[in-house]
Amino acid sequence: MSLVSMVAGRIRVSLLPGLCAGITLLAGIAVACWLAYKQSAYEVETFSAIKDEITAVIGERMKDHELILKGARGFVEGSQDVSRAEWRSYYQSLELERKYPGILGMGYSAFLLPGEVAGFEQRRRDEGFGDFVVHPEGQREIYTSILFLEPFTGKNLRAFGYDMMSEATRAKALHSAIFSGNTAMSARVTLLQENEADRQAGMLIYVPVFRSGMPRDTPEARWQALEGFVYSPFRMGDLMKGVGLRDRDLVGFDIYDGTAPREQALMYRSADYGVEAGRERQCSISEFFGHPWTLCFYRSPLYQQQLSTHSIPLILSAALLLAIAIYFTMLSVIYRRHRAEQLASKMTAKLRRKQDELEVIQVRQERVLSGSNDGWWEYKVSSDEAYVSPRFCEQLGLNGRQQVWPLAHLKALLPEEERHDVLSRVRRILVSRDTSFSLELRLKHAKGHYIPLLARGQIDRDTSGKALIMSGANIDLTESKRIEEMKNGFISTVSHELRTPLTSISGSLSLVNGGALGDLPEAAQSMLGIAKTNCDRLGFLINDLLDMDKLVAGKMRFDIGVHSLTHVVQKTLDATQGYAEQYSVSVVWAASEEVQIEVDEIRAQQILSNFISNAIKYSPTHGQVMLKAERCKQAYVRVLVIDQGEGIPEDFKPHIFQKFSQADTSTTRKKVGTGLGLAITKELAERMKGGVGFCSEEGRGSTFWVEFAVAT
Ligand code: ADP
Repeated sequence: MSLVSMVAGRIRVSLLPGLCAGITLLAGIAVACWLAYKQSAYEVETFSAIKDEITAVIGERMKDHELILKGARGFVEGSQDVSRAEWRSYYQSLELERKYPGILGMGYSAFLLPGEVAGFEQRRRDEGFGDFVVHPEGQREIYTSILFLEPFTGKNLRAFGYDMMSEATRAKALHSAIFSGNTAMSARVTLLQENEADRQAGMLIYVPVFRSGMPRDTPEARWQALEGFVYSPFRMGDLMKGVGLRDRDLVGFDIYDGTAPREQALMYRSADYGVEAGRERQCSISEFFGHPWTLCFYRSPLYQQQLSTHSIPLILSAALLLAIAIYFTMLSVIYRRHRAEQLASKMTAKLRRKQDELEVIQVRQERVLSGSNDGWWEYKVSSDEAYVSPRFCEQLGLNGRQQVWPLAHLKALLPEEERHDVLSRVRRILVSRDTSFSLELRLKHAKGHYIPLLARGQIDRDTSGKALIMSGANIDLTESKRIEEMKNGFISTVSHELRTPLTSISGSLSLVNGGALGDLPEAAQSMLGIAKTNCDRLGFLINDLLDMDKLVAGKMRFDIGVHSLTHVVQKTLDATQGYAEQYSVSVVWAASEEVQIEVDEIRAQQILSNFISNAIKYSPTHGQVMLKAERCKQAYVRVLVIDQGEGIPEDFKPHIFQKFSQADTSTTRKKVGTGLGLAITKELAERMKGGVGFCSEEGRGSTFWVEFAVAT
């Protein structure tokens, strides 16, 4: 991937949260707008529907009242002189108060010419209404007078005899009814029945009544035929209450008389949340019986609450919140992914480095292994199988391929006489807590002879110390054994050849120094003394070399018997007494309980003597060497030789029991010695089924110990 496309990719990734959040927000805004549009259309439709319904219901009610009045006209026109009782029973049969609440009553007003008024009044008085007059008084060209008005009680009584032509508004409606020959409605009036407490605007609906049989097709003919009017007075508030409108609490409305919503022409107001509250309203003009009313509608607070678009801010806030959430979630996902990628690439790089290192190590190991010419192997304890390398096979003269061998196969390659010993040593290594081992063994070659091998390696253990895997390399010792044998043979020959002449030289020097040849000059005495000392040292070295030779060759004989430990120690102390005095060192034996040990007495003394002479040699002048015995394990006694000398250097400790090893190998070393003493000591102790060991702290002395088998 090029750098440019990588950078472009990064930018695209970092823009992604913003882009997604933006799209979410835009989607939210779009939904909100769409909803607002739909809501407002629905609101307008609903408002318009309610408005139309109210208008229609009012219209229906007005028609109902017209029908009632027209029915009454039919009743009057069809009857011969309607009596008051007949009017009443007709009115009652209609059950108007129950069916059309809001109607104040239904009346009949007679049309009178000036000449008929007096007679009309007289007839009423004759009917029992003694003070009846057509009112208000005054000279007019034509009169009307309310004759019947049901219910004929209460405030309606005020209207009895009233001339509606005397009042302009009513007169106008009456004229209109005659002119059209049909129903007419008055403008806004204050009804005679009106009371002070609950003042309401009023109006009246008139239907003209004509004498039957007379023409009525022109206004003039109708004037001629006019007999009176049936009518109903209405209080607007009561009328509207009775109309039975639904959705009153959602939409309010005002009814104005005329074609404009003028406050002084207000006839009815359904609620006070209209004009006073400055609410927006919609007005329209409706005509009832040729008379215009202006109806103004406005939304109630409840309506606005229910139908207004509350959800818009909610949707917008939700969209905003969602956009924010998406933004941060994506940001965090991208950040985590980025971190994970970084981590992964770091880990990959690390892994690659490790792999490279591993490859280098592997190549190096292979080179070292093939260079060292060692065969290597790995023994898996759980499966009791061993993996052996091609070189291992080659060492045994087998086909050089790596193989997995069952342990039994390996065991079979051990010489029979050594098998038990080798296997028990392996077992001891496995059960110990050691993590490394070194083991000499011989394995059978394909040609039948045995190959001496040094197996060295490590042991992998679990947390409880149980051995899991034992792995190591086999060093072929054939060549070194051959050289060793040659060296040993050479040393053995040289030692033997040297011992005889040295013995005679030493003997001769002893005789000369002892005065066998008479007194010697002082200078000669000193020279011969030095010669004797060095002759003795050479003798010791040769003895050590011969001992070692015998031990290695297995030719040393051990005369094992039961001996008192105290006796053996005492004899050794006696033998080393002179040496101690020479170094001005005291040797102390902390006598212990009597113990019988099973040893070759001479060899046991040789071991102790070696430890004691080393302790004396490495002690400071006037130092003290302490000997102690203590029981260890069940069948052994341990004799400790403790000195106050310079101690053993840490790096020398692992080599101390090896042949010819000395801490100070310089040619100017102060202490004389061969470096063979401890190696011989160890061999001797082990041949007598015992062991040796030491502990030492540099500058604070050393403790060497030997374990002898206790006689049973
Ligand atoms: P050597 O004849 O040199 O003493 P040894 O085998 O007896 O040979 O001892 C090997 C080496 O071990 C010595 O050269 C010395 O460095 C060290 N050594 C042995 N015993 C002691 C001791 N008691 N204190 C300090 N060093 C000792």
